[in-house]
Amino acid sequence: MRYDDFHRRSIEDPEGFWGEQAQAIHWHKAPERILDDSKPPFRKWFVGGLTNLCYNAVDRHLETGGDRLALVAISTETGETRELSYRQLHREVVDFAAVLVALGVGRGDRVVIYMPNMAEAVFAMLACARIGAVHSVVFGGFAAHNLALRIDDAKPALLIAADAGSRGGKVIPYKPLVDAALAQATSPPPRVLIVDRGLAPGGSRVEGRDVDYATLRAAHAGTDVPVAWLESNEPSYLLYTSGTTGKPKGVQRDVGGYAVAMALSMWAIYDVRPGQAMFSTSDVGWAVGHSYNVYGPLIAGATAILYEGLPTAPDAGIWWKICADYGVRTMFSSPTAIRVLKKQDPKFLRQYDLSALRYLFLAGEPLDEPTASWINTGLGGTTIIDNYWQTETGWPVLALMPGVEMKPVKFGSPGLPMPGYDLRVIDEATGERVPPGTKGVLVIQPPLPPGCMTTVWNDDARFVSSYFSHFKALVYSSLDWAIQDEDGYTFILGRTDDVINVAGHRLGTREIEESVASHPAVAEAAVIGVADEIKGQVPIVFATLKQAASDAQAQHATAGEMMRTVADQLGAVARPARVYVVSALPKTRSGKLLRRSLQALAESRDPGDLSTLDDPNALEEVRRVLARGADAG
Ligand code: AMP
Repeated sequence: MRYDDFHRRSIEDPEGFWGEQAQAIHWHKAPERILDDSKPPFRKWFVGGLTNLCYNAVDRHLETGGDRLALVAISTETGETRELSYRQLHREVVDFAAVLVALGVGRGDRVVIYMPNMAEAVFAMLACARIGAVHSVVFGGFAAHNLALRIDDAKPALLIAADAGSRGGKVIPYKPLVDAALAQATSPPPRVLIVDRGLAPGGSRVEGRDVDYATLRAAHAGTDVPVAWLESNEPSYLLYTSGTTGKPKGVQRDVGGYAVAMALSMWAIYDVRPGQAMFSTSDVGWAVGHSYNVYGPLIAGATAILYEGLPTAPDAGIWWKICADYGVRTMFSSPTAIRVLKKQDPKFLRQYDLSALRYLFLAGEPLDEPTASWINTGLGGTTIIDNYWQTETGWPVLALMPGVEMKPVKFGSPGLPMPGYDLRVIDEATGERVPPGTKGVLVIQPPLPPGCMTTVWNDDARFVSSYFSHFKALVYSSLDWAIQDEDGYTFILGRTDDVINVAGHRLGTREIEESVASHPAVAEAAVIGVADEIKGQVPIVFATLKQAASDAQAQHATAGEMMRTVADQLGAVARPARVYVVSALPKTRSGKLLRRSLQALAESRDPGDLSTLDDPNALEEVRRVLARGADAG
């Protein structure tokens, strides 16, 4: 099969193409219609079809592959490795589902999951999917305020939390964060189910609200919990992501479309078949974690490998050891992780037999040439494939498809459009297509393919305004700048909005600004992302104070508190790398913050057009404080 034909057919005959791909999953009742595109930009895939993600990920494999390895959960934090066959995974998931049912959770109810990369996080997700509850996993690195925002939007019937996570041997108790979040939340769930690994002994319990998983499991184990057959377009899960406002968006995914997209991507892009192993180093709290730590590999009948721990502990060979131990065929990670490993001795790349490792896919942020070359040379026989996608899309928009036809890798480009993605690069002002080699905005011509978000949870208007209202024509804006070359390869040049990308994690500068400004001494804050050698970008803060600090020491102390405020409210991922206190922020005469100029100065670049600048002194002061050094960081 040729890539060009495969992709062309997906665009020219979407119903024929996806109708065929849909046969890869189990339908309790076949779809009546492949695509309903009558209300763009909303679209429905596989209308009238009844299916279930948990059935496709687990039950379906029992007959032919019940003894096959389904999930390996390795923790170098607890020292535990759990290997579960499909049959054992089934037992765990059904038991977990029995506990959910006993707690009164049912179809359509939301369940927030706040857990690190541990096996129970996977059981909890699949158990929700089994009974038709809508899970929303919140990344364990997010702190109380971030958790509270998501709870208030999702209004869950239940929160499932781990007692604690652990990073580099340091235990991070989750329960105090949960208590703080629920105290802040206006729609707290009536129940909190705690999965206790004994990492944070003596954790408090709120009478009547907090219940222990182990106790409830003992009471309900062995109960049969039937699969809830859902219409293809019912919601399966929510995943919150940052945008330009302070309020995260609940990206809503469907059931059938997502299952079909997962099935296709597993063979066509990741080239993984039943019985083969895929290792994704992502956290379950991110989009990659949902699709390629859990649903993708399991729907494919492959082995999913989940890892909790640092990439460098006990040493920088741990990921390669895992690949060798389980004969991993396809690994998925991020450029940041590879940059971390690049700081270590390259001997770790040669210590293990990696002959089974065919591909390393990297995504989440731009893959720079030095990192790509280092890992390419270091791994020798493994093909490195950059792939581009977004939380919204759920699976790659741009990549190469070795399972179909391996096209040449072009360094700096995540490759070619994936099936169903009708991509264009258009002029920001006119909305017209730009010629190859010209910079523009990357857009997707609707309908969005299966697997992509169906709407923003509870807010159809926001789905339209956030993604489809940037141009005259109804197109999905990726909010990324891009260039396409003559061969159709796309190069991504960064975001068009105020979103920054820290270690592959997407953060809204507005959210961080709001958090900094919540400090009582702060008058106003501007947050920008600046280039960082390891993390790609890091947030830095320029802030003005309500009252000038009495001396430099007091100013440093306040700046330090701003960093702590962000870490406490939003989590360590959002912690600013540096804080600069200034007396005024550079703005236009109409009061708009000159973020791009600030960013350029912080990266020692030309600040660009300053004709609209209101007060030249403000910019001069920024130059001075940058030269002098940060107040904190
Ligand atoms: P997230 O929703 O957190 O996955 O972030 C999506 C954003 O990350 C995209 O809009 C891009 O700005 C960036 N991104 C993801 N993958 C890549 C890639 N392979 N190359 C360049 N940027 C990427």
